[in-house]
Amino acid sequence: MSPQPAMVEVRAVHKSFGPLDVLKGVDLRVAAGEVTVVIGPSGSGKSTLLRTLNHLEKVDSGTVAVDGTLIGYRRSGDRLYELREREILRQRTRIGFVFQDFHLFPHLTVVENLTEAPVSALGRSRKAATATALALLDRVGLADKADAYPRQLSGGQQQRVAIARALALEPKLLLFDEPTSALDPELVGEVLDVIKDLARRGTTMIVVTHEIGFAREVADTVVFMADGRIVEQGPPGQLLDAPREARTRAFLAKVL
Ligand code: ADP
Ligand code: MG
Repeated sequence: MSPQPAMVEVRAVHKSFGPLDVLKGVDLRVAAGEVTVVIGPSGSGKSTLLRTLNHLEKVDSGTVAVDGTLIGYRRSGDRLYELREREILRQRTRIGFVFQDFHLFPHLTVVENLTEAPVSALGRSRKAATATALALLDRVGLADKADAYPRQLSGGQQQRVAIARALALEPKLLLFDEPTSALDPELVGEVLDVIKDLARRGTTMIVVTHEIGFAREVADTVVFMADGRIVEQGPPGQLLDAPREARTRAFLAKVL
């Protein structure tokens, strides 16, 4: 057991879409300050798992706790989940989510993309939110793009804005769902560099990615998912170089 307190504690989570069982009993613990990289074949449930952590999807059974607070809980026949809806919404503002395809607000400038949620969801003054936004844009190397619109930026720049926007809510936890998969190859590095910088600062992150080199360099734990289950997990040196399970070996043989 890791000595740090758990930032994320997922227990026995099941999730179906109609007849399709997508998560078949997932247990996952992420310690505060650690980086977990999730790999696995397409369709294995990686995005669904991330979305349940942020309650973009409700679980059918099992529990999800973030930072010690049970934010999702449901058993057939009771309504506990619904009763905690307000707590879910409150917690969600402290969980950043970065999507494959950026999801920036197209009609807002870059700096407005960063100030919108702090002003509307956290009640910050526009002046304070703008100062924070400009500092964050500087950190991701985009101070000169504050007044640009998303369409005027490259994909890599847009994704760096999306990361800065997530950081503007001072999240306890950052979730990345294939943050570089929509990018031209030459733009992947600039986004991974920003995520590496966050890792060095001790940000708790779960990153779904196919970038195995990144996983090797940055992850504290690599999780291999297949067919709705966590097949195995461990430090990168173990999971990537000496996997125990045949399915992990078969997957790595395809992506490495
Ligand atoms: P991954 O991210 O590992 O590729 P996903 O979690 O996106 O996998 O999807 C797992 C399975 O669940 C896939 O078969 C996908 O088609 C299905 N799925 C995901 N979201 C939905 C949804 N909202 N409705 C129905 N099926 C879904
Ligand atoms: Mg996915």
